Amino acid sequence: MSTELAPVTDPDVVLVGGGIMSATLASLLGIVAPDWSVAVFESGPSVAEESSGPWNNAGTGHAALCELNYTPAGPDGRVDATKAATINEQFQLSRQFWSHLVRRGMTGSPKDFITPVPHISFVTGEKGRAYMRNRYTSLVAHPLFEGMEYTDDPSTFAEWVPLMMAGRDPAEVIAATRAVAGTDVNFGALTRLQLEDAENRGVHVHVGQRVDDLERMDDGRWKVTVEDAVTGEHRTVRARFVFVGAGGGALPLLQKAGIPEIGGFGGFPVSGQFLRTRSPELVSRHQAKVYGQAAVGAPPMSVPHLDLRLVDGEYSLLFGPYAGFSPKFLKAGSMFDLPLSVKPNNLGSMLGVARTELALTRYLIGELLQSRAARHRTLQGFVPLAEQGDWDMITAGQRVQVIKKDPNSGKGILQFGTELITGADGSIAGLLGASPGASTAVSAMLTLMERCFPQQIDGWRPALQEAIPSYGRSLATDLTLLREVRDETTKTLELVG
Ligand SMILES: Cc1cc2nc3c(=O)[nH]c(=O)nc-3n(C[C@H](O)[C@H](O)[C@H](O)COP(=O)(O)OP(=O)(O)OC[C@H]3O[C@@H](n4cnc5c(N)ncnc54)[C@H](O)[C@@H]3O)c2cc1C
Repeated sequence: MSTELAPVTDPDVVLVGGGIMSATLASLLGIVAPDWSVAVFESGPSVAEESSGPWNNAGTGHAALCELNYTPAGPDGRVDATKAATINEQFQLSRQFWSHLVRRGMTGSPKDFITPVPHISFVTGEKGRAYMRNRYTSLVAHPLFEGMEYTDDPSTFAEWVPLMMAGRDPAEVIAATRAVAGTDVNFGALTRLQLEDAENRGVHVHVGQRVDDLERMDDGRWKVTVEDAVTGEHRTVRARFVFVGAGGGALPLLQKAGIPEIGGFGGFPVSGQFLRTRSPELVSRHQAKVYGQAAVGAPPMSVPHLDLRLVDGEYSLLFGPYAGFSPKFLKAGSMFDLPLSVKPNNLGSMLGVARTELALTRYLIGELLQSRAARHRTLQGFVPLAEQGDWDMITAGQRVQVIKKDPNSGKGILQFGTELITGADGSIAGLLGASPGASTAVSAMLTLMERCFPQQIDGWRPALQEAIPSYGRSLATDLTLLREVRDETTKTLELVG
């Protein structure tokens, strides 16, 4: 990866940011348009140092196997599996694409970025148990969630995750489901592998190069102004297509590009922290990712979870997240990010959200004021015998939650998912928001390609389907295909526990 100032030659495509999204798009374009010249500009000293970095996210391969916010209960208590099935299908696209990259020689071992780790959902109390039973009944009947197990028996739960039962009152009502097909993903390693692979195909990856401005030229191309992080020197390149994969930095850049489609959008940054232990003894007694339920008024991304992680060959446990507030849009961002993002076109949405999201404000203030002892008590809800000395606090990535104008009411709303913004002529696109995030990068970038390259996409489809067999199809209804891709990806990605 080069720290040299951007070359003068104008590429066909500029990818802003060296995170999982740009890396995925670089890989996909390498399949369908290998002759296009592509340049990546990353402002940090190396790629994958923001949200995609392994310690900045939880590394969960989100397939809706354990995240309870994807399976809401209706007024009659019945659980709707629709959202969970969508997320699972999206994750299957990622698995197939990663499998394709491995088969094509991207890495010697898929263990460099993906590990089989059972996904468990966990609740307490009678109400929680009733919900969990309904959720299990709804999911287990679905082909995508076949094989899911349920228990409310403390001794079975103790076999699944001994660390969570040790010291727990045996009379406490608990309920859980387990899916052994879950994964832990090192999205930082995956990003680096994909970008190195892309470089080997001729993609130029520049680090320490901040994209400062985007300006539309008369000939329809984009003038991309790049600043060298060390010398402060500026250089411009011109590109036919720009993807703003700048994570938290995407909103300000899309605002600078001045496309009408970004009007009304704002961002609300939420910072986070995790507790981490590297104690081999604790790790050996918790070989799973366990997701609980969010507290009342808490946003979905604050669901507490206790995760087995494998990063750079070392196992650890991560617990959190504990939310916080910082006006920065990136960990390496500026205290002025939030105030400078307020524009006349999004002021209404921002103020509207400030008025309506009182529960979130209350929740964030409560989290910020939490003492270390209070945070430890939250951990003890999962690990009753946890000792403070075993756990260190680490700072996670910044999430910039999307604020947008509700098309029906015209009022500002806070959105917890991702939002793909595309310019009307398809020459520019950017991604806002953080959830379900890196796990669904392939689905997000395929959608981008459909929207930005409508003329090419039909011609690209056969190559894409060769790499990602379920692209454009439904695994939920094509059971033969489901079995095929499940077997193939499990084998290639070495996902046998
Ligand atoms: C606390 C937390 C937990 C999460 N847990 C999970 C999880 O368990 N599973 C999951 O799938 N997802 C998870 N996510 C979401 C996931 O991490 C993100 O969706 C994903 O990493 C976003 O990738 P990205 O490429 O868009 O952004 P990033 O990885 O942030 O990359 C953007 C890059 O752009 C660079 N950049 C910014 N501005 C500029 C500029 N002007 N010029 C040049 N470069 C620029 C940045 O330095 C950065 O490297 C989590 C996120 C957080 C914060």
